[in-house]
Amino acid sequence: GHVVWALLSVSMVHDEEGEPLYFVSQIQNISERKRAEEALKESEQRFRSTFEDAPIGVALVGLPSSSPDSATRYLRVNRALCEMLGYAEEELLSMTSSDVTHPEDLEESRARAKRLVEAGGSKYTIEKRYVRSDGRVVWAMLNVSLVRDSEGSPSHFVSQYQDVTQRKETEEALRRSEERYRNVVEEQTELVCRFLPDLTLTFANDAYCRYFEKSSEELVGGRFLDDVREADHAYYEEQLTRLNPESPTATVEERALTPGGLRWLHWADTAIFDVDGRIVEYQSVGRDVTERREAEERLEYQAFYDPLTRLPNRALFMDRLDHALSRANRQESKVAVLFVDLDNFKVINDSLGHEAGDQLLVAVGERLKGCLRPEDTAARLGGDEFTILIEDVNNVNELTLIAERITEILQPPFALEEQELFVTISIGIAFSSSAEERSENLLRAADLAMYRAKQRGKARYEVFDRSMHTNALERLVLETELRRAVELGEFKVYYQPIVAVENGRIAGLEALVRWEHPKRGLLLPREFLSIAEETGLIVRIDHWVLREACKQARAWQERYPNAPLLTVAVNVSPKQIFHPELVAKILGEIGIDPSTLHVEITEDAMMKSNAARSADYALRALKDLGVKLAMDDFGMGYSSLAHLKRFPVDFLKIDRSFINALGQDINGTSKDLEIVSAMIHLTHALGLKVVVEGVESLEQLEQLQGMGCDFVQGNYFSEPLPGEGISVLMDIL
Ligand code: C2E
Ligand code: CA
Ligand code: CA
Repeated sequence: GHVVWALLSVSMVHDEEGEPLYFVSQIQNISERKRAEEALKESEQRFRSTFEDAPIGVALVGLPSSSPDSATRYLRVNRALCEMLGYAEEELLSMTSSDVTHPEDLEESRARAKRLVEAGGSKYTIEKRYVRSDGRVVWAMLNVSLVRDSEGSPSHFVSQYQDVTQRKETEEALRRSEERYRNVVEEQTELVCRFLPDLTLTFANDAYCRYFEKSSEELVGGRFLDDVREADHAYYEEQLTRLNPESPTATVEERALTPGGLRWLHWADTAIFDVDGRIVEYQSVGRDVTERREAEERLEYQAFYDPLTRLPNRALFMDRLDHALSRANRQESKVAVLFVDLDNFKVINDSLGHEAGDQLLVAVGERLKGCLRPEDTAARLGGDEFTILIEDVNNVNELTLIAERITEILQPPFALEEQELFVTISIGIAFSSSAEERSENLLRAADLAMYRAKQRGKARYEVFDRSMHTNALERLVLETELRRAVELGEFKVYYQPIVAVENGRIAGLEALVRWEHPKRGLLLPREFLSIAEETGLIVRIDHWVLREACKQARAWQERYPNAPLLTVAVNVSPKQIFHPELVAKILGEIGIDPSTLHVEITEDAMMKSNAARSADYALRALKDLGVKLAMDDFGMGYSSLAHLKRFPVDFLKIDRSFINALGQDINGTSKDLEIVSAMIHLTHALGLKVVVEGVESLEQLEQLQGMGCDFVQGNYFSEPLPGEGISVLMDIL
């Protein structure tokens, strides 16, 4: 049943007389070839239909001719291409592509075709214009591939044409409109139009048409700005109807969607009346005021936002707080303010520079904002102070949870340039108590609570209570009194002996300041020192004590000319270490040996002053004068013996808190005992002398003696006494 194709050649064989005898048939099986031919025909058919019916133009194009115009002939074209170019198939086949190419694109087209053949490429894409039979221009995106024959030499091109006229025209229109818009803005021409009381536009000037990119025909007859204005026009319309011959104009600024985007327009409308005073028409003159409005918005932003952190500023915070309070009043809910202050920000700022400080504030602001609900407000009041407004508060627990969350979120270190920085904060919490709570009071209460948190050691939160108000008031009174005390000289220096362990004799005296308060009697430093430091008054107090102590030292050195000479130790505030020149001046004026003056500075203060380089310099300058330095209160702060090597100190004063355990534990098993003993040994190894403070009993003294302590000081020997008291004591000894 298999069909075979055969090529049959038949010849007739004749006899002598020429009569036909028989046929000779040669049969050649050509099935193979036939099948190949059929397949070819089929693929031809298929090609034809894809080619012909392709939705985009396709053509087979000949290679560039050798003639000077290097024209390329159409060998085959499909229907889509014919339609695109507006020619019949036969017409196109008699033409070259140059005949239909837009003259301006001719050169490039030719160059690209030639380059493809000569450079041995395989395809290129180009966007070019063609001129249709009816003269219209079409834009085509052209994909050209070079087809090679079996020997590899170029045979023809296959080109695909996609009509992109629409897109090109849009692009072009856009470009033109941008240009036009630029002209409008540059010319600042006023847009003038007229419209009837029902807002039907009756006239639009050139500038108006240009601005909205519509022809006057398109515009007139439509309603004035109806389809472009952003906001509801009702109010404006109502205003227009109220115009009267006495006040015939109104102005309005509104936003409209113009071809140049969303723009602010300022309109001045004038009503035109008939003889009876009825409005017959309006004339409107418009200006684009977008730039001005944006500038205003920027200004407004600056008025209400902190430019550094982009958080609301104090003004906006207070405004929101006011609103929140009146809302809370209506809904009988509560409002809370959290006052957040960075601990030791000044140290960071001074040591790492303002830029790092700013970066830190920005980062802190971001973290704060990140941990709040969207309806809460985080603001920056200024400096390193942030505030947070929380609405709808039910109880204190909610707030302490928030405070804890904030503390937690600030715990991971901040990466600033090359440094990693840890930050702690103090938080004050206050919430509205009465219905008529005023916003300033609430903020002040939160501030006071924050202040309490600082006083209680920082890195913590405190909830405001009424007593803080009284405390704050007391502080205010004290501050005023302290200022007066500085003016009137209400201070007195007390002295406490420092005893040499080896011979039990008074080696020197520590000057301790007292305030002889006219009403409250003798005040100890702890009652006024923190205010003195906060207000900066401490600097004047310290200078006065220094001078007094030096005078007293000189008097005693003359009266008791022991060898070695009596020394005097003065304390200096971490706020400000003595200025070396001032010390030199006082020493010179009073005439004492600089080495008999000891300056006591706490370890913490040295650490801080080291951060602010200038103070580090001051320490060395004091040393250069010959003054001796003591590290005070060792054991209270960092307690790092490594610091002893870094700072140019001569004495280490071990804090009283270590000594408390001594004497009670005579068997010597106490940890404190071992620590003090180790400290003394290490300090000696560094070449420093040790003073132990707060010695109150003979047992303590004996233990310290056993440890090789150099000097002792404490109530066991003598409490701090006025200068006269010390003189009596010395006379006895
Ligand atoms: P400080 O420098 O550690 O002074 C030693 C303090 O311990 C003194 O308290 C002294 O009275 C007390 N003290 C001494 N021996 C004993 C004892 O055996 N038992 C007990 N319980 N206490 C003892 P004071 O005079 O109240 O001074 C407190 C702090 O005020 C001083 O601590 C010092 O840091 C600071 N201070 C005192 N005078 C001045 C000053 O003129 N300027 C500055 N900036 N600070 C000063
Ligand atoms: Ca001291
Ligand atoms: Ca001390």
